[in-house]
Parts: sequence; structure tokens; C-alpha cells
Amino acid sequence: MTDKYILAIAVAAPFRKIFNYLSNQPNQPKQALTSPAIGSRLALPFGKQKNIMGILVGTQDTSATAEATQHKLRPIHGTLDKAPAFDQEMLDLCQWCADYYHYPMGDVCHLALPALLRKPEPMPVMTTRVWQITHQGKTTHSDTLKRASKQLHALEVFRIHGKLSPAELKQQHINTPSVKALAEKGLIEKQDKEPSNEPVALPKQLLNEQPLSLNAEQQRAIEAIQFDKFRTYLVDGVTGSGKTEVYLQAIEKALQQDKQVLVLVPEIGLTPQTVSRFEKRFNLPIVSLHSGLTDKQRFLHWQAARYKQIKIIIGTRSSIFTQLPKLGLIVIDEEHDLSYKQQEGVRYSARDLAIVRAQKLNIPLILGSATPSLESYYNALSGRYQHLILRQRAKQQTLPSLSCIPTTDTNLDARAIAAIQQSLANNQQVLIFINRRGYAPTLICEDCGWIIQCPNCDSRMTLHRRPSAHQGQRLHCHHCDTKTAVPQQCGHCHSRRLSALGTGTQRSEEQLEDLFPQTPVLRIDRDSVSKKGQLASALTQINSGKPCIIVGTQMLAKGHHFAKLGLAVILGLDSAFFSSDFRGAERMGQLLTQVAGRVGRENIQGKVLIQTQFTDHPLLQQLLQEGYHPFAETLLRERKVSAMPPYEHLALIRCHAQQPELAHNFLQQARQQAEQIIPAHNGLHYLGPFPAAMEKRN
Ligand code: ADP
Ligand code: ZN
Ligand code: ZN
Repeated sequence: MTDKYILAIAVAAPFRKIFNYLSNQPNQPKQALTSPAIGSRLALPFGKQKNIMGILVGTQDTSATAEATQHKLRPIHGTLDKAPAFDQEMLDLCQWCADYYHYPMGDVCHLALPALLRKPEPMPVMTTRVWQITHQGKTTHSDTLKRASKQLHALEVFRIHGKLSPAELKQQHINTPSVKALAEKGLIEKQDKEPSNEPVALPKQLLNEQPLSLNAEQQRAIEAIQFDKFRTYLVDGVTGSGKTEVYLQAIEKALQQDKQVLVLVPEIGLTPQTVSRFEKRFNLPIVSLHSGLTDKQRFLHWQAARYKQIKIIIGTRSSIFTQLPKLGLIVIDEEHDLSYKQQEGVRYSARDLAIVRAQKLNIPLILGSATPSLESYYNALSGRYQHLILRQRAKQQTLPSLSCIPTTDTNLDARAIAAIQQSLANNQQVLIFINRRGYAPTLICEDCGWIIQCPNCDSRMTLHRRPSAHQGQRLHCHHCDTKTAVPQQCGHCHSRRLSALGTGTQRSEEQLEDLFPQTPVLRIDRDSVSKKGQLASALTQINSGKPCIIVGTQMLAKGHHFAKLGLAVILGLDSAFFSSDFRGAERMGQLLTQVAGRVGRENIQGKVLIQTQFTDHPLLQQLLQEGYHPFAETLLRERKVSAMPPYEHLALIRCHAQQPELAHNFLQQARQQAEQIIPAHNGLHYLGPFPAAMEKRN
């Protein structure tokens, strides 16, 4: 409570300002008004809206807003919850984010809250179901279950723990049928329990399994990490060098100091193996936050994290906004991954926010990658980050040999097909990487060369095969998501000779099925894994170790461990050489190195073939002959010469309009005004306005 009676409130509305209100005791003299705690969710009227949710970010004695000078400050309706939804640390992080990325504070606060809390309604009280052992369960003779070993195991666990939550049941490998059976026999019963806000103590036995004994490089990395101060560590280790083991042992140390740990990964759905490695190691419930959760699940996790009941959270980008009052370590795996950047709405980088958070909390941040982003690599070289290098693969495997197949063909070359045959004959698995989903990237008229464009943007339409052959084909725009039927004739010359040009994952899958009818072909791309369970079933088949051909996009580059992979063929990388994005070449090097890193993990001398028409490109040659780091250093020198990040900062002013002139004129004026405020000088240049790389989106 405070005697400052004017409330400063962040509201999710497209205004870059904080709004002033009075507290909700209309008949009190000013001096007697009290304010809710900072960080509280409030219900209030806003413009014509009768009731919305806002966050109290501060209080003040006076207000200079127009409403205040006209004595028209409105009172709020009231406070929604008993305790504030934001702690000071999260409020500060949101404020930093709003300032740095120039986004309204109210919108940032909304992003940081679970969806259930964005409405002007009190925080829900949700019960969680726990199962507890009955008197009968405690006293019954174990012999009665001797024919049901799973139930017997479950009962024994219940005898030790008394009560188990769904997460604990999962962790103890107790399945639903066993629970049901025990309940029917009256040995356990369910209880619906309100969540407590009591922190949970660490289990006596923290680990489920013995940690691996570290090699010298890993040991050095672990010893370098200090837990009592802010520092960013870049674990720069080749694929398979045991970075995950370093994270696991660092996390163990943080947990022993009763801290909470936040681990960010690119896409959980794509790397279920990572989560299961954490579950195997720690005798603790591990919560994973990702887009597949319901609003209710998200809210429950958010609450448990705030109440310090969850020690380890693994999540994607937006998990950086999880409130963890005892946060003691942040780990970002595959730190170079583009998914850490949100590209619309609040355009934040989770990696940058992690640095800000770790710095404010004075805790360590571990970034890990085999192909560090140029920003992080630069910071490691300059000593801002501590550079922890793992050069050796943990299991002494050698890195695969890389070579080029010169060709202009986007289909599989005969030399590549021969190599595939060879690997399959050696009982190995093969990976075909194509950075293009769909059947073919272009549909072209054979008579006049007309190419089918998206009706809604400037992009070409990609040809897609429907899930089953008799459904035929469709056109998709990968840029704006427009979908249309395939036209019967050319829109220009009416010829019926339209043909598919180029190769996407679906076409490649079809060709491989024809070439290798005896071998399973598994396609892994955004279309194939959109259905639940499809990726898991593909991964199970791959893990069985039998020869198969895996066809996929960059989804394959994300941290998978495929033990029996002997060969990777890389197609369609050439467009990266002409990318309009200044990070295009960096991205190409990362993809190539990451895909190559999937190969030859266990006792197999792996091989990587790259089909390209630019065999002699100096960057590609350097990447192949010297590896990612010298390649990255060349790119850094180029960035320095061209005054690009990480040497210089770029700020982008964008706008949209339905008529291009409006957008252009607006930007022209913005530039003129900016130049008056801060004239260009040696360290500051104005560029543009330019049209967008792809105009006419939607
Ligand atoms: P990265 O994350 O760097 O790609 P991983 O952590 O997945 O590497 O390790 C690759 C493989 O090596 C895994 O199977 C892991 O269990 C194993 N490994 C890691 N560290 C050690 C070690 N110190 N001793 C033995 N095996 C190890
Ligand atoms: Zn489009
Ligand atoms: Zn034509």
C-alpha cells in the first residue's frame, strides 16, 4: 500500500503510454485513497470498453495527462487477485523489453502472462488431481498383486510416497491402466487438491542415474562456470561433443543450491529426446512449455513455477517470460537457432532477454551450439563471453567427410544415388536434406514460360501433393499461406502443358520410393509433423536402427541423435548464396554443419555429399575444408567491412499500407524528422526507404 493515489497502468492497446487512473474508493478524500500492490492485475474501464484488464506498474502523486488536468481521471473497478500477478523482476524485464524493442508496455505484459490471465477475471482456482494410498492399500498383502507386476510396482511407489500427482506418476513410470486397476481394488483413491503455494523441497536423492564421467574438455567447461555471479558462457562444441552432459551437470549444481533452472530449446516437439534426457537424469518433475499446451495447463505451470514448486522448466522462446523467484541458471541450447527471435508482434530475441535477466539476477547464462551465431561467436572471441570449447566428440567418433557433387540439377544426381545404394547395402540409414517442403517449388507453362504467382502476394506458388494420391494436388503460398486449386491451363497462353519445376520434400520422397522400393522412406517436414504423433512414430522407426531413408527440411538439423546414419545428401542450398538477408550465408553454414553433424555418430565413418553448382565458391570451400569457425571468422570480417551486426547496430522502421505511395511517403517523412533530431554523422547512417523484400503480402 502507498499513499500515492494515482495509479499508473499498462493496458494492452496500441498506445505507447501508461494510463492514469484513481483507485476504486470514489467517496474517500484523496489522502485516504490506497493503492493495490505493484504488479497487480486490475479491472478498469478503458475508452468505450466497460471492463478490461490492466497491470499496475506504479503509483504517483500527480498526473500531467489531459484527463487529470480536467479532473476527469476515472477510478478502476477493482483489483482482480489477492496477490500481484507480476513480481518486480518480471515487471522490470517487461519494461526493458518495451523500451528496447519499442513496443507498448501493456502488450509486453500481456505476452508475459498466460492467456487465462489476460481477461478481466479473477485468477482461476484449479484443482489438480492426486492419487493417494488407502488404508487397505497400506495393509494389503503384496501377493494379491503377484500376477500384475505393473500394479505391484505402482503400489510399492505409493507406499513410499503416499500421494502422487499426475507428473509424479509419469515420472515413476506408472501408467493410467495401473492407476485405474488399483483404484478399482480400493487400494488408492483420488483426491482433488487446490494448488498449494508452499515451495517443494528437493528430493533426498536428486538424480535418477549416475552422471557420465566427463572428459577433460567437459570437465574444464563445468569448472569454469561460476554460480554466484553474472557471466555468459558460450559452450562451443562440435555436434556430439557432449554439450548436453555439460548442461545437465551445471543444472545439478544449481539445483543443489536450491535454485530454479530455465532451459530454452528451439522446438520441443522436434526434439523430444532432449526432454527425456532431462527426465532420465533428475528425480524431479520436469515441466516443458510449448505451443501444444492448453491454456489451463499453461496457467498451472505458470503458477507452480511462481510458487517455486517446479525446479526445472524446459521451454521454447516465450518461456523466457516465466516467473521463477529462485532462478539460478539459464541454459539456451542451439543458441544460433532463428526460432529464438519472435518475428511479429513484440519482436524480441529470447537470447537477448536471457542476457538481461541473468545480468539483473546476477546468475550465469549458458549458451550452447556447434555453430554459434556470429553475434555470440564475436562476443566469445572478444572476451565478453567466456568461451568454453569442446573439440572432441564424446564417444571418440570422427567427424564425417564432406564433399561436393557439381551439378545444376535439383534432383538427386546419379553419384548421390550410387552412394545411397552403398550405404543402404552397408545397413546404414541415409538422410536427404532439402530446404524446401511441398512437391515442387514452381509450376511453369512449358509453352510460354509463365510461372504461377500467388494471387495475394509477390511470391510463387508451391505445388503440394495432398496426403493421399487420389486427392490430387494443390498450390500453397509459403509466404502468406494462400491455398488454391491447380489450374488446368496456363493463365497466359492457355496451353495445358503445365509442369512442375524443381524438387521439394514430397517429390523427393516419391522419387526415392520409386528408386528404393524395398526401403522405408520417412519424410520429416512441417507438413508431415503437423499431425500429432507422426514425428514420434518416424523417430521410433529411425531409432529401431534398420536401414531407411529420411527426407526432410531444416527440422532435421535440430539436435537429433540418429545413431545409424551413415550418409547425408544435401540439395537445394544454392539459393542461400544469393539471399537478400545479410544472415543468409551464416545460416547456410549453420544448416550444412548441423546436418553433417547428424551423420556418423556411432562407429560409422559418415559421409556428406553436397549437390551444388557453386563448388568453387570460396565461402563453401572454406566451410568444407576448414570448418565452421574459420568460415564464421571470414563472415565476421565481411560484416565489419560492410558495417553490419555485430559490429554496428541496425534499427528498422517498417510500415504497412494498402497503397505503396502512402507507406513510402510516411517513411520518407519519418526519415526527415529523424534526421532533424539526430543528424547523420560518422557513426550513424540513414538508409532507405526501401520497398519490402517481398511486397504485397496479404
Ligand atoms: P551434443 O549435445 O554436444 O550434440 P550430446 O550431449 O548429445 O552431444 O552427446 C553425444 C553422445 O555422447 C551422447 O550419446 C552422450 O550420452 C555421449 N556422451 C556425452 N558425454 C560423455 C562422456 N563424458 N562420456 C561418455 N559419453 C558421453
Ligand atoms: Zn502469397
Ligand atoms: Zn503459357
